[in-house]
Amino acid sequence: MNDIFVLDHRYVADTYNRYPTQIVKGKGSLVWDQNGKEYIDMGGGIAVNSFGFSDDSWVAAVTAQLNAFQHTSNLYYAAPYVTLAQKLCERTGMKKVFFGNSGAEANECAIKAARKYAAEKKGSDCYTIVTLKNSFHGRTLTTLAATGQEYFHELYQPLTPGFVYAEVNDLADMEQKVAENKVAAIMIEVIQGEGGVVVLTPEYVKGVSELAQKNDILLIVDEVQTGNGRTGQLFGYMNYGIEPDIITTAKGLGGGLPIGAAILGEKVKDVFTPGSHGSTFGGNPVCCAGAINILDRIDEKLLAEVREKSEFIRKELSGAKGIERIDGMGLLLGLVTEKDAKAVVNSCMARGVMPLTAKKKVRLLPALNIPMTILQKAVTIIKEVCAE
Ligand code: PLP
Repeated sequence: MNDIFVLDHRYVADTYNRYPTQIVKGKGSLVWDQNGKEYIDMGGGIAVNSFGFSDDSWVAAVTAQLNAFQHTSNLYYAAPYVTLAQKLCERTGMKKVFFGNSGAEANECAIKAARKYAAEKKGSDCYTIVTLKNSFHGRTLTTLAATGQEYFHELYQPLTPGFVYAEVNDLADMEQKVAENKVAAIMIEVIQGEGGVVVLTPEYVKGVSELAQKNDILLIVDEVQTGNGRTGQLFGYMNYGIEPDIITTAKGLGGGLPIGAAILGEKVKDVFTPGSHGSTFGGNPVCCAGAINILDRIDEKLLAEVREKSEFIRKELSGAKGIERIDGMGLLLGLVTEKDAKAVVNSCMARGVMPLTAKKKVRLLPALNIPMTILQKAVTIIKEVCAE
């Protein structure tokens, strides 16, 4: 057996169910394993590699920063994190940004901001955060508590208190949760990615936003998976015509380097004061230089291409043999297949295409700039595998 497989099981904590594939090289939307076998990447490192593997322009931006300086403590000013924060604010209409290293850390920051804001404004007993059932917000104890899935909760009791879970796409239930609790914030993903590519309806998202505004409850939108061009808009909420109070993002923003951001709106822009929150690597210059490169390239033209590629996939696979339904938006799509999703992924991998699963669906998260010819090839193989 491959040494790396053996050594992984001997030395690495057993937290992942890996495919028996070792990645040794990637370029754009192509990736090669230990045997030199080529695959078309349709998973993007779970929505991380926005412009594919080792993208030249991104590598140049990251390398230039590495050669200037790789890190400085947050006790000094540096241009990359400031520039990135300015760009994020200008593109969202938000006011200030806190940088961390991951989606979970971005959500932790949002939860802290909401608790602090509500405690100062409405009293220390106003701390409940309503999230949705089937949501996923991260792996720290608090973001696990925010995650509306029993399975994760059972493993690590006691979790951080103060979370209540509402039914997906059920406004009456959300109204009830708001009426029954002293609520500081509502936190949603507009598409539940890990939850199985479950899309919130426009009426529901609008309704939740209005409910939050009416009650001076903060609306946090978790854009860790849906952000950074993935849905065909810069952020997923922009498909819904709402204005969140806090946006959290990570994954695709870094294009492959760890970064998380909590983007704070008018109400919470000054909630933090020196010493009240922090992160050693937060705003790391190399990660920020990469993220600036990514963000600058997610322009209207690219977003239109994401929507076109999404339409192409939908047109090719809708009604195809063995495919019952396609959920999702942009290049975050979930296929409901007649065959077991894992079996579909395994057959695709045998034929040189690498999709993902999400719950019972086959999940597609290719690079935003996947070339059309490569996408066509991947879709043909997925179609054939589902029909077999
Ligand atoms: N929020 C959402 C919506 C996610 O999809 C994820 C990860 O899949 C997270 C938060 C956690 O992000 P990270 O693994 O970077 O902490």
